[in-house]
Amino acid sequence: MTCQGSNVRLCAFSRAPLLAVLLSASALLVVWLSATSNILFSDTSIPTNTRQLFSHGWGYVGDLDTTSTSTSIFLSSSNATIIDDDRLFEGENATLESVGITGESDEGKWYLGLDDWWNRVDYQGSKVSAVDMHLHTGLFQDVPPSFQDQILGNIPFPLPTVIATPLFNVILSGYGICAQLVCAKIRRGVIFAVYAPTTTGLTTNQFVHGEIQKLPKKLWGLASLPVNDWDKNEERALNLLRKYLALPEFIGIKLAHPHMLINLNDARFYSIYDVAREFNKPVYCHTGKTLSTGSLTNKEATHPAFLEEAIQLYPDVLFILGHVGNGADFDGLEDPIEACFRLTLTYSNVYMEVSAVGSASNDPNGDKLFGIFRDAKQLELIRRLIYGSDGPQSPGFVLGYLERTIHAMERANYTDQEAERVLNDNFQSVFWV
Ligand SMILES: [Zn+2]
Repeated sequence: MTCQGSNVRLCAFSRAPLLAVLLSASALLVVWLSATSNILFSDTSIPTNTRQLFSHGWGYVGDLDTTSTSTSIFLSSSNATIIDDDRLFEGENATLESVGITGESDEGKWYLGLDDWWNRVDYQGSKVSAVDMHLHTGLFQDVPPSFQDQILGNIPFPLPTVIATPLFNVILSGYGICAQLVCAKIRRGVIFAVYAPTTTGLTTNQFVHGEIQKLPKKLWGLASLPVNDWDKNEERALNLLRKYLALPEFIGIKLAHPHMLINLNDARFYSIYDVAREFNKPVYCHTGKTLSTGSLTNKEATHPAFLEEAIQLYPDVLFILGHVGNGADFDGLEDPIEACFRLTLTYSNVYMEVSAVGSASNDPNGDKLFGIFRDAKQLELIRRLIYGSDGPQSPGFVLGYLERTIHAMERANYTDQEAERVLNDNFQSVFWV
């Protein structure tokens, strides 16, 4: 269920843990009440999609039915982006008229109620949109005992399993995750399916789909697949992946080679990339070392350079290098973070994701995360960086990691537009949601 990405213990108590727990609990209650009473996040009144509209200032508004004669939306035009087939309208050009839709404003009908207060992150006095593209949902009982212990190690007091199980099942539920996103003012989140039953756990595509359906448009999913007995099960596993990639809620594929006990350069698994190409959806690959018991620690499973062959063979598939290779240090091999930068510079189908690498335990003074943002700016690779946290197993981590990331971007002199590119825009241009 949960993978802890890198050579990191997920301890995020840089802020008062009690406050974080209380905040999360209150927000959870608000989100649950709102979602179940159809006040927030509800899109039941929105017609089917022929066009998609995003308004940064007003949250996701909905898919527009151009066949409707009564289409009308309240829109903050200075903060909007409209994607209409191949055309992209931004800022002041992003009016409904720009895509040929006219009508009266009808705030009540379309506006979902997500306003600046809990929908945009503060960055140097500006409000910017943010997406956390690395979140783990699932059931605590589906995590192997060794990884349960690792998660419980993030709590500063002993917690018996009889209490930990229901507690973590709430924290890791769609509502629990949404509550933590609200606390951090993060607009949307992406939750992962995980098929690594012996190392970090099992979260099925079906489970992820169920959680997304409780909070549509707030949560999106990455699908995955089992890889055990591959020679025998390949076709069945690929078909399972196809079944979920066909759903609009699943915007890409999640792979964690060391947790799934396979190597990055094992060509037997390249058929997964054929499916990615078939659906034109990106592949997120964990790169870097992991502490979870039983996971692979060899260079072929962890060092980003071993993904290069697949990146070359599939130029039309987008690859996201999760955790920027953190901790995969081997004698005689290039620094793993430098390897990620080299791959991103060399190949246009490569992006980097910065989750976990900058956690308090892995990067106590923030220099590592700062260095990544500084180098990305110098090398003009800001457009290829995507934000994710790798939460929310530890109370306060979703918010705490965002704060550490914002601090690193401020140190690296990112403008508010550059910060929003990392936190939001690059995600949108890669995943088209
Ligand atoms: Zn993870």
